[in-house]
Amino acid sequence: MRFRRRSVAADRSQALRRAVQLAFVALNVWVGVQFYQWVRQYEVAGAAASARPPGVEGWLPIAGMMNTKYFLMTGEVPRVHPAAMFLFVAFVTASILFRKSFCGWLCPVGTLSEYLWKLGRDTFKRNFFLPRWLDVGLRSLKYILMGFFVYAVVSLPARALAEFLESPYGLVADVKMLNFFRFMGVGAAVTVGVLMIASVFVQNFWCRYLCPYGALIGLASMLSPVRIKRNAESCIDCAKCAKACPARLPVDQLVQIRSAECLGCLECVAVCPVEETLQMTLVPARKPVPAWAIAAGVTLVFCGITGAAMATGHWQTNVPDWMYQELIPRVREFSHP
Ligand code: SF4
Ligand code: SF4
Repeated sequence: MRFRRRSVAADRSQALRRAVQLAFVALNVWVGVQFYQWVRQYEVAGAAASARPPGVEGWLPIAGMMNTKYFLMTGEVPRVHPAAMFLFVAFVTASILFRKSFCGWLCPVGTLSEYLWKLGRDTFKRNFFLPRWLDVGLRSLKYILMGFFVYAVVSLPARALAEFLESPYGLVADVKMLNFFRFMGVGAAVTVGVLMIASVFVQNFWCRYLCPYGALIGLASMLSPVRIKRNAESCIDCAKCAKACPARLPVDQLVQIRSAECLGCLECVAVCPVEETLQMTLVPARKPVPAWAIAAGVTLVFCGITGAAMATGHWQTNVPDWMYQELIPRVREFSHP
């Protein structure tokens, strides 16, 4: 079979993905600064003039899971951290539709991780790969962590979930998260430092081995109607796709990528030198899904679900100001109930 050469240089998928990733990082920084200023007002002046940005609840995925279960069991939108639920649902939905796209296109930790291993590759001319036995063993860690959190949420009745989130600890879980980064102890700082250094050498170290959220999103992505498909007839077996894959999937040897590790990042498609040989494909319709459609789809799901929550008045945590005035200055007193 004759093959048609494809212009790899003209591929815009990675520029587009980078733009979406950086826009999401910028959104997180904006929300983070607003949240920090809101907390500082309670600490310094005892009251806040500005509003709390609910988007910060994207950093509370366990609260998101708890509230999703609460909503499914009661039909009521929870009073505390409802945005965590809407963001959790948005990220899972985007990943069911477009593979593990939350990790590959949106997550700021995934983006930082990607920049770190690319820095390592540019500096040392290579990344390092753990031996297969260790790689497989470590990869199971994130599923064990995920199983622990899922079990904890699934085993609690709806009333107990609401009581947990409405406890002093649950109400200021976001402030506790901020304080983890603001007042990091030596042990936590060393752990974060080790993870960052490991990420320079090993691609996506945190995401690949330890992130329970990514593990859950990956399992959900196996329901996706889109997946990378390779045309074995036109493939010239150059293996460029497998070499480019940050999830280390054997793209050059498979006809379809069904793995829970596939990030939907299109790095493999971007480097394939043969026209119409490697494509993200809508499997039921056998139609290729271009990068712009993934970018638009992920953005639409995110904006659609969060926008609907805002428009229906379900976005803000329904906690009176006087409660925050009491709780935030005493946040160190509250521990996990
Ligand atoms: S198979 Fe392709 S889309 Fe999936 S993670 Fe690897 S490079 Fe990205
Ligand atoms: S990049 Fe992968 S799919 Fe494309 S021709 Fe080479 S081996 Fe085949």
